[in-house]
Amino acid sequence: MSSSARKPRRPSSVSLSLASNVSDLPGVGPKRADVLRNLGIETVGDLLATPPRRYIDRQAFARIADLETGATQTVAGRIAAVTVRFIKGRRMTTATVTDGSGNLTCVWFSQPYLRRVFKLDTTYVFSGLVRKGRLGPSMVHPEYEVADAELLHTGRIVPVYKTRPGLSSRQMRVLVKSALGACGEVEDAAPATLRKGLGLGDLAGAVRNIHFPPDPPAAEAARRRLAFDELLTFQTLFALARRARPCLEGGGRRSADVVARFTARLPFDFTSAQQAALDDILNDLASGRPMRRLLQGDVGCGKTVVAALAAAVVADGGGQVAVLCPTELLADQHLGNFSRFLEPFGLRVGLLTAGVTGSDRAGLEAGLADGTLPVIVGTHALIGEGLGFKNLRLVVVDEEQRFGVLQRTRLLRHAEEAGLLVVSATPIPRTLALTAYGDLDVTTIGEMPPGRGVHTTTVVEEGGRTAALKEIADKVNSGLRGFYVCPALEDSASGLTDVRTVKSEMEALLGPGRAVEILTGRSARDKRAGILEDFVAGKTGLIVATTVIEVGMDIPSATVLAVEQAERFGLSQLHQMRGRVARTSTPSFSYFLVSDGASDKARARLRALEATSDGFEIAEQDLVLRGPGDLVGTRQHGIPDLRFALLPEDVDLLVRARDEAFKNVATGVPRGEWRGWIAGVGKMMEGKTRMV
Ligand code: ADP
Ligand code: MG
Repeated sequence: MSSSARKPRRPSSVSLSLASNVSDLPGVGPKRADVLRNLGIETVGDLLATPPRRYIDRQAFARIADLETGATQTVAGRIAAVTVRFIKGRRMTTATVTDGSGNLTCVWFSQPYLRRVFKLDTTYVFSGLVRKGRLGPSMVHPEYEVADAELLHTGRIVPVYKTRPGLSSRQMRVLVKSALGACGEVEDAAPATLRKGLGLGDLAGAVRNIHFPPDPPAAEAARRRLAFDELLTFQTLFALARRARPCLEGGGRRSADVVARFTARLPFDFTSAQQAALDDILNDLASGRPMRRLLQGDVGCGKTVVAALAAAVVADGGGQVAVLCPTELLADQHLGNFSRFLEPFGLRVGLLTAGVTGSDRAGLEAGLADGTLPVIVGTHALIGEGLGFKNLRLVVVDEEQRFGVLQRTRLLRHAEEAGLLVVSATPIPRTLALTAYGDLDVTTIGEMPPGRGVHTTTVVEEGGRTAALKEIADKVNSGLRGFYVCPALEDSASGLTDVRTVKSEMEALLGPGRAVEILTGRSARDKRAGILEDFVAGKTGLIVATTVIEVGMDIPSATVLAVEQAERFGLSQLHQMRGRVARTSTPSFSYFLVSDGASDKARARLRALEATSDGFEIAEQDLVLRGPGDLVGTRQHGIPDLRFALLPEDVDLLVRARDEAFKNVATGVPRGEWRGWIAGVGKMMEGKTRMV
């Protein structure tokens, strides 16, 4: 017998599990399997866990005689004739459809094979936009299918999927349908009491209805059920990640002594919020388990000094500390901050950025490897390969939203037992903190140091721009110093033009001795340092910048901020920027300039900044208006977007999922049980939270 005769034939109806490979489904060959893989779909479960992007309601059946031009309608009719003609070089297939009440003309371009698809005298269902044709109603490229099978594409609420070349929504529907058939009932691990309590249906029904809902409420009910499973999956992984933290020997010995010496040197007393944050951190350090903490609070509330004290405690105890910053500018600044605080303890602080090369770099690397360099501040360069620490004990990640779970995890690969302190000036709403940072304990500094001056925020409409620039110039002429922020553009050439235009506009308004300097992320390091020095010394009155100042510049003498095209920024970003100029007891000012093209919604959004200075309130608004990606930068950093859950709408589910997950993990419910079927999410998250 030849070998080909033994090849297993693909059975026409298959029985599969969620874990089966999608290529086990009929109609999935190597090519389509590739397309699916690019969409993150490898298993049948992945396919079923891919929700439609939206639905189209094609339920409305009509008689051909009653079709209304301009409406999207569905008819069932017999094919009376099919012809193919050449029209302007394209082949046009025309099917004449009749239902006894009248004739409908359906037209497709460049799909001549349809001639063979449609069988004369067979009844089909067509759905599409009704147009007025020469011979009565017509539809161009309507959806179609044979009437005597279960309808997938017409005559129902039809799912529309994300498509790729080589995979249409139509094909997805067929695949999903056969996956649903092949899998039978999906087993539901959720206890019925829990489901009832949350008003959620069973899993099998939800999996069916998310794709083929009988009506819109069924689709929403399915979404919520799957959202709960999804949130539970994430929270279970977070709970497992926390439990998996290794034990440490020793702890923060001598910390009381270090804390006393450190605080004695400060020119101020800690606020009670800073004190509480410090207590949280010292407890973590002494706990015998690596710290996993998010320290958040508005710009200027005094997080950096708390982080520096944590670094002093760890480094004084013989551990090494790495401080990861999102920009070189911030790394420079933290080098200054940390050195100032740590050098009195005899602790040397190094700086590692991409620009540090050759023997300087070799020296730093050697110091980290043999433990003689206790503290290193740096950018992404710290994450790079080839860097080894003797005894890394604390990783401080500043301005976290610029990084992401993945990157902070990579730094921790140096030492799983190192503590992690994430410092974020974007106040993260609780809902989001629980999803994006569900693996971290959260400490919030909700209080500003005393004696901050009044800050005035003004939203400037296009018509008021000239007057506003004059007002800003008057302030700078009177001796104040300011930042003027222009949106950074993708294209470096045009990005600079914007900055230059503003520079010359302002120069025209400023008096002698009030220089304007440009500062961008691309400015060379020594040039940048010079510009900042001149600014601090008062030689420069105004710095025109791209968003670089957003992330942490600490120049308390700057009290004026202007932002061009403010509508392009998130509210939280703008709030952070204004925090930069509200750091002292003197009054400070920000001007958010709106361009003509801004939408009314964008304007209204900006007005919220005039009304409140509460960073959390602003962050909640951003979350509602712009989605979580903007707040934590999840999109860039590959934290999987939630597929089913909507935040903040599903916060009730989130809270229950978190309780359930942490309870399950604490009481040892088997790992596989709950995160079961949304396998893709589980896989992705597992890789990312493994060490955190
Ligand atoms: P953040 O990192 O939260 O933006 P910083 O730690 O940079 O804030 O502090 C902002 C400014 O306030 C710094 O100049 C810092 O020295 C000062 N500062 C911090 N804590 C206090 C405090 N308790 N009282 C007075 N000034 C403080
Ligand atoms: Mg800071």
